[in-house]
Amino acid sequence: MPIYDNQNIFAKILRGEIPNNTVYEDDYVLAFRDIAPQAPVHILVIPKGAYVSIDDFGAKGSPDEVSAFYKAIATITAQEGLTDAGFRCIANTGDHGGQEVPHFHMHILGGEPVGPMVSKS
Ligand code: 5GP
Repeated sequence: MPIYDNQNIFAKILRGEIPNNTVYEDDYVLAFRDIAPQAPVHILVIPKGAYVSIDDFGAKGSPDEVSAFYKAIATITAQEGLTDAGFRCIANTGDHGGQEVPHFHMHILGGEPVGPMVSKS
């Protein structure tokens, strides 16, 4: 597992060094709108703890952190009115997954049909 880089952009957001458009926050989780939205609703959900990726979070996150993360997704998707129409959650991971920011984040995409699951182009 790569070593966590505390200079990554989401670490700076968590420290308040870079502004964000927060939609949800609790003791364990911060969620904010993506700066370059790929759908009408595009939210990034991140744990406040220092985890590189979804597998790092799953392996090392405490039960309270993991529970809070998924509870937050349910709260946010309801808050954003996505429950009935549906949405997609994506956790890009590592090089093959196309992860750009090395702090675990779940994308929530919705507000319109979000297309095929994997691009073949
Ligand atoms: P990844 O490719 O790592 O799964 O996704 C990183 C996401 O972070 C991208 O969708 C990108 O637009 C978003 N992002 C990068 N920098 C910032 C920023 O400073 N603020 C916000 N709100 N989103 C960012």
